[in-house]
Amino acid sequence: MKNISSFFDLAIKSINALSPYQPGKPIDELERELGLIDIVKLASNENPQGPSERVQLAIKKAISDTALYPDGSGFHLKKALSIKLKTTVESITLGNGSNDVLDLIARAFLGPGREAVYSEYAFVVYSIATQSVSATARVAKALDKNSAQPYGHDLSAMRQLVNDQTRVVFIANPNNPTGTWIDPTELKAFIASVPRDVIIVVDEAYCEYLDVDHYQNTIDWLELYPNLILTRTFSKAYGLAGLRIGYSLSHPDIADLLNRVRQPFNVNSLGLVAAEAALADDAYIARSRVLNNEGLKQLEAGFDELGLSYIPSVGNFISVDVGSQALEIYDHLLKEGVIVRPIAAYKMPDHLRVSVGLKLENEKFLIALKKVLLNV
Ligand SMILES: *Cc1c(COP(=O)(O)O)cnc(C)c1O
Repeated sequence: MKNISSFFDLAIKSINALSPYQPGKPIDELERELGLIDIVKLASNENPQGPSERVQLAIKKAISDTALYPDGSGFHLKKALSIKLKTTVESITLGNGSNDVLDLIARAFLGPGREAVYSEYAFVVYSIATQSVSATARVAKALDKNSAQPYGHDLSAMRQLVNDQTRVVFIANPNNPTGTWIDPTELKAFIASVPRDVIIVVDEAYCEYLDVDHYQNTIDWLELYPNLILTRTFSKAYGLAGLRIGYSLSHPDIADLLNRVRQPFNVNSLGLVAAEAALADDAYIARSRVLNNEGLKQLEAGFDELGLSYIPSVGNFISVDVGSQALEIYDHLLKEGVIVRPIAAYKMPDHLRVSVGLKLENEKFLIALKKVLLNV
């Protein structure tokens, strides 16, 4: 009989070496730990508006069906997506959050001896997905912190890492936690420059927040580049993080392959109806965008006043440089009832990532930050 510690030796080597994802601290947990009330959570890039009325109504209607398995094909949601996005049903793969879709991509295209390319400071799930299937990660140096897109993806550095073993390139646009974005012309040139047998994943988790200056309808590119996969989510602008729904758009053959490794019921029935209702609610998205732009300006003005530098963001969050005491500042903010996100796990130990909240939430955070900075 082996002793317990040897279970780590029994595990797949790359799994043993894996660091688990560190989520934002839940409000409930902080309540329990410190006995606080009126906590503001600006830690997971959730939509501060909460779910729309329409969504809540759709969920209420569907509650009585929860003894039944969900529609594993996601028929109605896929149909609604295909109409809204002017694409085919066959190009859509639904996931338990887009995180699930990223995992499906890794399982279908990566594995031992295969390589994935992504950037330093890129969304951490790319590294977890790569490592969990024992593939090799090639991590490209990011853009300089004094460039126009500090800590952002350097596409030419990424391109240089693509070789015969590369099967997947992960690109986040905009990227989390940096909030940086990629010029559409440069992105298109990059995609065109990569061999057709390399899958390029463009993760567009925050695309609904982009204004006309930054938005590119990449769906049009799917025809040109069959090796392109776009991933999107209902967790951010659509306000459904708790229901876990995301999707990808790709060549139908890629969708077919992803479907083979997908759990038969990976998306739940409340999530399906909620997403369909959310998709139809253009006013909610428009409000989210306005609220987000105002909130970003409010946070930037607050940081300017405190003399803090930040990474210009086009997402619903912003990473601010608070110096080497970032973790201590994070802890003190918790005591003030404000949860933000340390990003030391991203090798950005001096930054805290702050999600854009409602006006009063942003205000509470800025007041708490000012107080904390005076005391560390
Ligand atoms: C939040 C996020 C996701 C996905 O989250 P899901 O809730 O799993 O859809 C994907 N990519 C990036 C860059 C994100 O920040």
